[in-house]
Amino acid sequence: MDFTAEITKLKEEKRFRRLPLIEARQGPYVKINGKWLLNLSSNDYLGLSEKLSQKEILEEIKDFPIGAGAARLLSGNHLLYQRLEEKLGNLYQKKALVFSSGYHANVGIISALAGRRDVVFADKLVHASIIDGLRLSGATYFRYPHGNIEALADLLKSRRFRYKRAFIITESIFSMDGDKSPLEELIKLKRTYQAFLILDEAHAVGVYGQQGLGLAEEYGLINEIDLLLGTFGKALGGYGAFVIASEEVIDLLINKARSFIFTTALPPFILAVNLKAISLLPDLKEARSQLRKLSSWFRKNLGLSGDTPIVPIVLGDNEKALAASAKLFEAGFFVPAIRPPTVPPGTARLRVSLTSQMSEENLFSFLRLVEK
Ligand code: PMP
Repeated sequence: MDFTAEITKLKEEKRFRRLPLIEARQGPYVKINGKWLLNLSSNDYLGLSEKLSQKEILEEIKDFPIGAGAARLLSGNHLLYQRLEEKLGNLYQKKALVFSSGYHANVGIISALAGRRDVVFADKLVHASIIDGLRLSGATYFRYPHGNIEALADLLKSRRFRYKRAFIITESIFSMDGDKSPLEELIKLKRTYQAFLILDEAHAVGVYGQQGLGLAEEYGLINEIDLLLGTFGKALGGYGAFVIASEEVIDLLINKARSFIFTTALPPFILAVNLKAISLLPDLKEARSQLRKLSSWFRKNLGLSGDTPIVPIVLGDNEKALAASAKLFEAGFFVPAIRPPTVPPGTARLRVSLTSQMSEENLFSFLRLVEK
């Protein structure tokens, strides 16, 4: 079997990627090819992945086996799942269900809840895992222009009532553009058109909200979201994901989400890490406000408004993005070029992500280089 043509095409289109090897990581820095660089490509927004003590966590799980040994519906549903879901349930005041990753969760949720007679309206820029869930679901779906509430309203008006159930799916903070969804308007629309609102808060959990529960918490809207998704692998510094919804929805997911049912449960170590991160979350106010201050300052210097730590510098052309990334690497900054299919064709970019471990001093020379 010969795959040369595919590889050649990827190379010609400047879309061929190789895995960078992270030889070491410390604070906001990574070591690649023997060189220490400021890491502007991490989702560890609060630096928690380093702050959590491995020793402490190992002590907590000393009576558990290393692996879970089976899927959750078999014998993999160990006590740490119960503790973690109870804790999440208390924080969000709803039911919680832990999935193996955000990717598993999105693929499983949509295909479990939406079927052939249903319709889904998804923002044009939602994450690949949501698109894959949509494809698997067999539901009809429409992608409305990014953040465009009028376009969504028009679609709902003309299409919604031809189908049984309707779903609206969006991210709260967009992973590649760093902008926010207009939550209040989305809630009004979901009420008017009797739709079920799914909100992916992967990049907002930890960073937004008085207790770090996400953008819905920040706006006091948790109760209005039918299903909220958070991940442990970004600001929480661990691995896995969780869904917050009604008891009925959670029961349905346990019974129907194939990416939940047909995979081995997470190992106790990971759940203990996630539990620790969730316990710390409400008290990380200082790190949250520091990150938002730094993000606003950085954005302002680039002529952008807002306060999210994801800052896109769109260059358009794949080759241009690659050249800029290489130049920044030489100057001591790790900012990979993000190209299609991660972002739409013609919008290749540098996606800068900031963390609370950074300071303005770390970023002065980056801004000077980008301005050139
Ligand atoms: N949703 C969004 C918006 C994401 O950005 C990501 C991760 N890039 C995911 C879901 C998937 O989460 P995980 O990394 O836990 O699989």
